[in-house]
Order: sequence, then structure tokens, then C-alpha cells
Amino acid sequence: AGRRGSGYAPICLGLEDFYTRRLYLRIQDCFGRPIASAPDAWFDVVERYSNDSNKTLHCTTKTSKCLNLGSYNYLGFAAADEYCTPRVIESLKKYSASTCSVRVDGGNTKLHIELEELVARFVGKPAAIVFGMGYVTNSAIIPALVGKGSLIISDSLNHNSIVNGARGSGATVRVFQHNNPAHLEEVLREQIAGGQPRTHRPWKKIIVIVEGIYSMEGELCKLPEIIAVCKKYKVYTYLDEAHSIGAVGKTGRGVCELLGVDPTDVDIMMGTFTKSFGSCGGYIAASKEIIDHLKHICPAHIYATSMSPPAVQQVISAIKVILGEDGSNRGAKKLAQIRENSNFFRSELQKMGFEVLGDNDSPVMPIMLYNPAKIPAFSRECLRQHVAVVTVAFPATPLLLARARICISASHSREDLIKGLEVISKVGDLVGIKYFPVEHEKT
Ligand code: PMP
Repeated sequence: AGRRGSGYAPICLGLEDFYTRRLYLRIQDCFGRPIASAPDAWFDVVERYSNDSNKTLHCTTKTSKCLNLGSYNYLGFAAADEYCTPRVIESLKKYSASTCSVRVDGGNTKLHIELEELVARFVGKPAAIVFGMGYVTNSAIIPALVGKGSLIISDSLNHNSIVNGARGSGATVRVFQHNNPAHLEEVLREQIAGGQPRTHRPWKKIIVIVEGIYSMEGELCKLPEIIAVCKKYKVYTYLDEAHSIGAVGKTGRGVCELLGVDPTDVDIMMGTFTKSFGSCGGYIAASKEIIDHLKHICPAHIYATSMSPPAVQQVISAIKVILGEDGSNRGAKKLAQIRENSNFFRSELQKMGFEVLGDNDSPVMPIMLYNPAKIPAFSRECLRQHVAVVTVAFPATPLLLARARICISASHSREDLIKGLEVISKVGDLVGIKYFPVEHEKT
């Protein structure tokens, strides 16, 4: 079965995938209803997001106000913010919601230029280019970097936007085992003539693509080891920091900062603005030559309407808060808080006997459900107790590796986290997903 609609399967997507999808549609929940249509199990229509009264993170669905444990709002910027929101409103008045123009043709505001300079400085690269959507950033940029005659070596659990970009590029795609630098080296040896590095290379370019934090696994990339392999074989590296930029590292600069990797060792840094920055869009940061090249040839830059100005302003303001350039220390506090919240929540879940994937410091924590029939029951019971969680299953994960994916935010208060833990614990007992024995403290 496919993993995350990506990895091995998409590259050989065929009948197997077709039949697995049909099978999936027939799986029933414990009440005999097809899980794809369990009406009261999902928080489908949200009426409002807020960091209200006591700074907790809520979403108001059609039926009730819920503690939101599902959004990528890592630093709490995706709700009214004392620094960001007034500036976003100003930019809306000044530039409107859309430029109605492409970057090269009237859609290039001062804000877009400011954001590109700020992103480059933030991630530690000489230059950057921004796009209106994170998904498009991967799917349009990869084909602009490599094509026929080049080789892409992609982590087996890379996001679907990377898989689509790789497929659309026309380059040959090989997959290495998830987060396994030794297997990456094996694949590289196979692909470089005679298994000898730096002899004849049958490829125009070779690029290795990984993610900073894997969104369905909550796992940190083994970046230092992967960079070491890439350097040894003199191949390019492409790092998608959608879930790590702004969320980890002492000053929010992502996995490079967290794992002590020099950003100059990563050739192409990609990230999205849809998580830690509470906005939309994506960026590529790299050398001036690469960014100039992209500005000249990338269709998503030349033919697509530029990023919405208020969305641009939101990212500028959020980065300034993170850097302390708003004149406060709120950014540093948020970064310390998300780390503390994530590590607290993860260790409490583990103590309760849940199987939780991922690493310490990662705000993404998948709780394994395994059986897809448990998905609607878990989600519905949490919702009944006013906790909104996101469940993920095939084709985003392998068929029998369904999970609930908790995303922790700096805006969650300790009371929120305790309430969330209580509800998840009760629902976990009900649904039967505490797979590990709990050690009771001896009195
Ligand atoms: N890359 C990764 C690793 C992602 O998880 C996502 C989506 N969550 C994207 C890219 C696409 O970003 P966006 O949702 O901002 O379009």
C-alpha cells in the first residue's frame, strides 16, 4: 500500500493502489457505517479560530467550541495577534487582498521584496523567492531545478507535493528508505558508475530531497548524517522545512539550528508560511544564482498571481516577532513554550500507554490507531468532549497504519494540555488504543 500517497507507491502507482482505495471505501466503523461517510465524526466546518480570553487555542465548529489539537498553528500566529493583525489590516487597506497580477507584471509590491530579504536573512541563505502556495512551491520548483537526465533521490515518506514535483520534472526518481542515511548512500553508490564516487557520473545533476520534520511521523530528519553522505558524493540537497521552520531551534530557524547544521551545507531550503507563521504561501532560499535562475524560468513565478499582500505582511510581522524585532520578547517566549508544551504532551501520552511516533521537541505527535475502523470512533468521541483532533489514514498513510495526529502550539495553556490529555486518555480506553502496558508507581 502507498505511504502518504507518496514514497514507493506513487512511483509505481497502479492496480494495487486502485484496489486498496476500493477496499478502503468499504471499511466500516464499529457501528457498521462506511468510515468515509461517518457524518458526526469530523470537525468539518469551522466558524472561527481564536486565541481568546486566557490565550487558549480554540476553533468554533458548527456544534461547539473545541480545544484545537489539530492545526499547524505552532506559534499561535493563526489568530488575532497584537503585533501582526493591525499591520495585516493596514496592508489590506493599502494593497487589497490580491495584486491581481503576476510578479513580473505589476504584482511585485514592496512587501514581496521585503519578505524575500527577510526570509533569506532568517534562514541564513543569500537570497529567497516566495510563492502563493506551499504545495506549489515544491511541485513547481523541483521541475525548474532538474529535468530529464537528472536524478532525484527522495525520502520514501516525502510529502505529496514533493512527489508531484519529482514526477513532473521528468528526472529519474529513486526512493531511499525513510530517514536512513546508510540506505541513501547505497542508492547513491548504485547510481554513480561503478559505485565509485567522483568517477564518471551518468547524471546531469543529482539532488537529494528530505523534510525537516516529517508531518505524518513527527520525526526529525537525520540531517547531519544525510548532509555528510551528500557531501561525500557531491550531490545537491533540498530540505523541506514546512513543519520545522519557526517551530524548532532556539531562535526558530528550524532543524538546521536544532541539529547544529550550517545552512550553507543545504543547497536549497524550502518552507511554507502556513504553519508557524499563520499565513499562506511558501519560499525557496538558496544562492543568488539559483534564485535568479528560478525567477527567470519558473512558471509559478512568471505566470501565477503573486502572493496576497496581507498574507505577505502576516509573515513579515510574524518573523519580526520571532526575531524580537517587534521590540518584545514574545517570540523567544513562544519558542520556549512550544518546546515545553510538546515535550510535556508527548511524555504524558507515552506514560498513558499510547504508541506515539516522533522525536522530542517535535510539535507533531501521531498517536497510532492502526485499524482504520477506529478513526471515526476516536475522532467522534474526542469531539463530543470538545477536543478537535485530526485523524489520518490511507492514502496519506499505509492502510493499516491509521493514526490521530496531534499538533501542539505555543498558544496551548497548561490547562488546555491537561484537558486534552484527560479526554484522549478516556477515549483511548474506550477505543482500545493503549498498546503499551502502563507502569504504575509503587506506593
Ligand atoms: N511540504 C510539506 C512537508 C507539507 O506537510 C505541506 C502541507 N502541510 C506542504 C509542503 C504544502 O504546504 P501548504 O499546505 O502550505 O500548501
